[in-house]
Amino acid sequence: MDWSSLQQHKKLLLGTTNRKKLVELQAHLEPRGFELLTLSDLDSPLDVQETGSTFIQNARLKAQAQAIHHGLWTIGEDSGLCVPALGGAPGIYSARYSLADGAGASDSDRGQIDQCNNDKLLAQMTDVSDAKRDAYYVSAIVLCDPSGTVAMEVQGECWGRILRARRGTEGFGYDPLFEVVEYHRTFAELGLNVKRAISHRSRALRQFLLQLDARLID
Ligand code: IMP
Repeated sequence: MDWSSLQQHKKLLLGTTNRKKLVELQAHLEPRGFELLTLSDLDSPLDVQETGSTFIQNARLKAQAQAIHHGLWTIGEDSGLCVPALGGAPGIYSARYSLADGAGASDSDRGQIDQCNNDKLLAQMTDVSDAKRDAYYVSAIVLCDPSGTVAMEVQGECWGRILRARRGTEGFGYDPLFEVVEYHRTFAELGLNVKRAISHRSRALRQFLLQLDARLID
């Protein structure tokens, strides 16, 4: 792996169109001196189908396709919520949990779909007792070089529990239902500063930066 072009230019494409994810990724990467491009900065961004069966596979698909298409070092991120009492659902289908099979979510209707996803999660968990409402978020992050070769793969997790009603207005996705037990607050009540400290994406990013630091000084 030739790290010299990343070492010299520190330019990275973030291969996601989800604005809330971008803010979290930027919060970690910008202070480290990376010039960050997003898909909306580029002409003809690709719409990558998530056909993998794990978070890492989907993050790899996104990173590889965008890296090759744009000729840039690229980060792909795939994330979701897993509820053991539901056999791991919604899992890799978190973004489209309430949609018919095969349907995709556009950026403009993401807020509405989040609402429906939360309604479905509440309905599926009506009969799940308080003792069995544990859940965890997963974030998989993959870095590809401009030829699409995988340079690094990391995964972070964050445990909590699923409430019986929404609380809070910050964040996105399942955050109003996801209570961080230590804080007695949902991610939607705690907001970005706490997510920056303990979220699945932050945990993945910290591993990512540690490994990247080691590679870039070699
Ligand atoms: P992706 O864009 O295919 O990775 O799907 C991610 C989906 O997982 C989002 O649409 C949310 O439903 C859920 N998700 C991932 N990370 C978070 C988070 O930090 N808060 C709330 N929901 C999340």
